[in-house]
Formats: sequence, C-alpha cells, structure tokens
Amino acid sequence: MKKTVRDIEVADKRVLVRVDFNVPLKDGQVVDDSRIRAALPTIQYLRERGGRVILLSHLGRPKDAPDPALRLDPVALHLAQLLGAPVRKLDELCGPSVEAAVAAMKPGDVLVLENTRFDPREKKNDPSLVEELARLADVYVNDAFSAAHRAHVSTAGLAMKLPAVAGFQMEKELLALEGLLAKPQRPFVVVLGGAKVTDKVKVIDRFLDLADRLLIGGAMALAFLKAQGGEVGASKVEEEGLEAAAAALARASSSRCELSLPTDLVVAEELSESAETKVVAAKAVPAGWMALDIGSRTAALYAEAIAQAGEVFWNGPMGVFELAPFAEGTRAVAEAMAACPGITVVGGGDSVAAVNKFGLAEKMDHVSMGGGASLEYIEGAALPGVEVLADRESE
Ligand code: ADP
Ligand code: MG
Repeated sequence: MKKTVRDIEVADKRVLVRVDFNVPLKDGQVVDDSRIRAALPTIQYLRERGGRVILLSHLGRPKDAPDPALRLDPVALHLAQLLGAPVRKLDELCGPSVEAAVAAMKPGDVLVLENTRFDPREKKNDPSLVEELARLADVYVNDAFSAAHRAHVSTAGLAMKLPAVAGFQMEKELLALEGLLAKPQRPFVVVLGGAKVTDKVKVIDRFLDLADRLLIGGAMALAFLKAQGGEVGASKVEEEGLEAAAAALARASSSRCELSLPTDLVVAEELSESAETKVVAAKAVPAGWMALDIGSRTAALYAEAIAQAGEVFWNGPMGVFELAPFAEGTRAVAEAMAACPGITVVGGGDSVAAVNKFGLAEKMDHVSMGGGASLEYIEGAALPGVEVLADRESE
C-alpha cells in the first residue's frame, strides 16, 4: 500500500493537493459535484490538522492556453459552500502572485490555483513547471486517482521534488481495486458491457484469468454473438471488435471462468425514445433491426448470477440506457447489485452515470470515479500517478 496523509506531519505545512475537480459545468454552475465531494475528506483532514491546503486540478480540455469558460472559479465557489469556509481562488497557476498568496496563508486556509491545463507544460511533465509548483509547498498529495493514468506535472511530476503521498479518495480507489484483483470474494462475478470490445480487450483477458463468471452485455455482446455466427441485423459491430471477440471466446474455452452471452435481445428499427421494440433470440436479430439492450430473460439470468456472488465488478451498460425503451437490462443489473449481499464495485463513466440515474449509488460498496484509470489499473498497467507515491513499509 501507499503512504497516505495519515503517515505524514501536516501541521503548519504547505500541502499541494492534486484533486480531480474536472466536473460538468452549465451556465457557470457545477451540475454534478460528486468529484468535489470525493475530495472533501482529504481537504478537511488537512485543515483540521493545521495544514495550508493548496489545490490543483485540471478542468476540461483547454488548448494549452487560458480559456475563460474553463476557469476554476465556479468550482472554488461550490467548494466553499460544501466546506462552509472561505476558499481563495487565484487566476494563475504559478508565478510571483501565487507565491505571495501562498506566503500569506494561515493554517487551515484553502487556496485553489488556476486550471493546470492552461499551462502547456502541464501535459508535457515539464521540469520547469515542476520546479515552479514545488516551490509553493512542503509536501504533495495526490487525491486524483481518475487522472493517475496520466504522467503530467500535477499528477506525477511533482513527486520528483516533493515528498508524495496519497489522499483518502486515492486510497479508497486503490483499496477497492486491489482487493478485487488480489483476493476477490468468490464466486467473483464480472459484468462487462458498453460500447466497444476493442477498448476493453485487456480487461476481458484479465477477468478471464480472475473471475468465476463473466457476463457480457451491451454493444460489446454483439461482437461476440456475431463472432459465433449469429445474425446481428443492423446492429453496429466494428470489424476489429469481431477479431477481439473471437480471440476472447477461444481463451474463454480453456479458462475456468464461465463466459455468458445474452440469449435474448431488445431490438428496434430506430434509436429513439419512442421506438417500437420487440424481443428476439440473441442470434436472430432481423435484417434492418438493431439490438439495443439485453432481453428480460438474459437480464433475469444475469441478476441471478449477481445475487449469488461473493463479489461483483461491473463496467459498461447493458444497453442504450440513456433512452427509456433500452434501459431495463442496465437497470436489472444495477438493482441486482444493489441487493447483492457480496461486495459490489461499479467502475466506468457511463455505468456510474447509470447507477446514479437509478438512484442506487449508495447501495454499492464502491463506486469508482476512476473511469479510464480504473480500467488501465485492472489491465495491469502501472499508473504513473500511483507509482510515484511513497510506499508504506509492509506490515
Ligand atoms: P463505461 O463508460 O461505463 O465504461 P462505455 O463507454 O464502454 O461504458 O459504453 C457506454 C455506452 O455504450 C453508452 O452510451 C450506451 O448507450 C452504449 N451502448 C450500450 N449498449 C449498446 C448497444 N447495444 N448498442 C449501441 N450502444 C450501446
Ligand atoms: Mg464511457
């Protein structure tokens, strides 16, 4: 495990904390503040112990230059409301004015620096920016697991110049994923869906080694069904996806993990809220029809497998859950997980959005904010933002 803020002295220290405040904004307001809330435990802990908290985050994709729409002001304002304490926001990331503001901080103060990606050096992990930011602080805390697959100045580079430890959100994400990969409770059931097989080939491989059952849904399932010779009608299946699915099927046949595919599908001729739908056998999608959700028989089978699981990991919706006629498969999986007595972990931008939409996030043991980072971690990749953190001596 990595060292965390618990393992270091923070009283009176200037603590540079990389958080993930990359939240959706609309008309200058924060629409979904879950990422800001996720950073609160670390920020509060440091404040209570007399640390001076300097926050760093990116927001959106500015083109290596300041973009007025992507300033962190609305985020800082929202943070101040959540903390019930003043939060000072600066219009710059580094330089003399920032140094002066930091020098004026008192224990417990919170300062938000400007969007890290306004500076072209951020993504290049440029040592000169590392130098300028490191000068502001005594220690560096990384609490942005979701950005840890990037080797940028704020996510990794700062560890070259400052003692580096994990924040509580980072720790929580690592513990959940480590637990799942190192010693999952059995039977370990993995549900994979979503848009493209090619994005998740390595994740499928990893779980064929690790899981007891792999339940496939979403558009991904169609590549598998087609690879088995099924008729998929007008469903979108990428050519490379077919090869990937065929390879995964071959590996599954020699794996002790049982791979399940849908037996029935919800199909429609158009992708719309008012589309007329019908349910067909999985390998018999009529010409001109698209498969847009798993059928109710499949959903019931998957729910039953989930109910019996010691641990469940779920990534990727079972259908186009954004539209009501195709949301039931995804809802069934979410509800089965919510009711499952085993450990339940959900990861992935759209899957997490689905769980939130159904109001079931609180019923899960862990809802990963990790997105791409959690999938890379599961694949077995070393995440630069995690690698650079100090290790705890093993107990
Ligand atoms: P996550 O973000 O959870 O990792 P993905 O990004 O891989 O998930 O996929 C999510 C998208 O997949 C959703 O927008 C959903 O509408 C789409 N999707 C799921 N099933 C289908 C399907 N059968 N046909 C087309 N799109 C699908
Ligand atoms: Mg997604």
